[in-house]
Amino acid sequence: MKIRFIEPGNQPYRKSLKNYFVYDKYIRTPSNGMITLATILKREYEDVFCYSESISEIVWDDVLDSDIIFISIFTFNANRGYELAEYIKKKSKALVVFGGLHATLNYNETIRYCDYVLRGEGDELILQFTNAVRDNAAIDFPGVVYKKNGEIITMGEPEIPDNIDTIPDRNLLYKFREVTKYNTIWPQVHASRSCPHNCDYCALVAAFGRKVRTRPPESVADDIEAAIEFFSGHKRLAKVLWITDDNFFADREWAKSVLNEIIDRGIKYSFTIQIRYEVGFDDEMLELLKKAGFDELSMGIEFLEDESFEKYNKKSTYEEILRSVKNIQSHGMRTRGLFIVGADNHTKGIGERLADFVIKNNICGVLIQSMYFIPGTPVYDSHKDKLIDTADWSRNTGRVVHYPQNMTAAELQREIIIASGKIYSFKRLLQAIFRKRGLERILFIGEYFWQKGIRRELKKELSYLEQLGR
Ligand code: SF4
Repeated sequence: MKIRFIEPGNQPYRKSLKNYFVYDKYIRTPSNGMITLATILKREYEDVFCYSESISEIVWDDVLDSDIIFISIFTFNANRGYELAEYIKKKSKALVVFGGLHATLNYNETIRYCDYVLRGEGDELILQFTNAVRDNAAIDFPGVVYKKNGEIITMGEPEIPDNIDTIPDRNLLYKFREVTKYNTIWPQVHASRSCPHNCDYCALVAAFGRKVRTRPPESVADDIEAAIEFFSGHKRLAKVLWITDDNFFADREWAKSVLNEIIDRGIKYSFTIQIRYEVGFDDEMLELLKKAGFDELSMGIEFLEDESFEKYNKKSTYEEILRSVKNIQSHGMRTRGLFIVGADNHTKGIGERLADFVIKNNICGVLIQSMYFIPGTPVYDSHKDKLIDTADWSRNTGRVVHYPQNMTAAELQREIIIASGKIYSFKRLLQAIFRKRGLERILFIGEYFWQKGIRRELKKELSYLEQLGR
């Protein structure tokens, strides 16, 4: 059997020279999930290969004569995925099968464009499915969705795999090794899955549940070494490996054992990871992180008001966030802030307040996104009548996608522009060049130009949002 995987881009791939140096909208790090599933199938099937529009074009001559084509989608690339599926259906006899976060939560929508949807995590399901296709057997197990006589058939909830321990074979992705020279393509490793919390806007727990599973620490360290080796051949300015877990620290003892494994093996690299604010109170963990090479921690700060934390079920307070940031900094690590604007209580001026908080508390960099509403999450259900567009998901890249309560959509988008402009101002660029050192300086310079590009895109859209009038 010939099997191909496709990860669509937000838009078709376009080569971008800018991406050799700084972030750009056209190229991004491909997701680990697709390569992991391809690796699982490759153990039993000879002809398995992947394409990701986040780094390359799709070689259709190689794809169209496949037996099965798996397409993996998040929300931001769902429409592009459907476009590709329609093209494949016209040109090929392959079975088209969708999976991924968006397909899992929206199988009723996704099934319109394909033969099957595989819901949930595919570690076991994908092999079961592929074997059934090969053996011409019934495809009637939990997690599968298909159409029969125009009716959507759902075979029940997918099972949650306990064994998630696969080291992805990165060579299975077309042109991956070649693009590792891009400064903005990062080595990444996924060490554990899921999170015991349940923030209202979180698609992860809505799709995959709250049962935390971990990989053996030795295997995680092997994976880290393999990822570093994969990226070793090229000169990159910023060498950072991203541990992509949503909540690496959910199992504290396990997290410590992974960090100890990195330290014991003497792996010398720079790492970054997402954290919740509680990690900032754990001195033992912070010391281990620092020792293992984590110079920067990305904190899901989200909001600056206790009212928002409460409203969206994020168990946190402003005072705790502040204390956590300070303690991390006192351990010699930088804090990056991940923020959401457009909460129901947000008013004009939120952009300015956010920027002031970031600058005053020496947050080294930010990711600001407008409140997002992935179908299947509680926040989607409570706001579905306030969404600007529920057919085109491609705007879900951080832009304003809803009519906020206390301002217009255009005003909210302006608040993001204001915050980004103040944090990444020319004056602060000069300060970074002359006062910051090493990786911190390189990252700020890169982000300055990246954020400039983001603001340009956001500004272009303002007239469209203004026309909406709400
Ligand atoms: S803490 Fe993060 S991963 Fe966990 S539920 Fe909240 S948003 Fe999701």
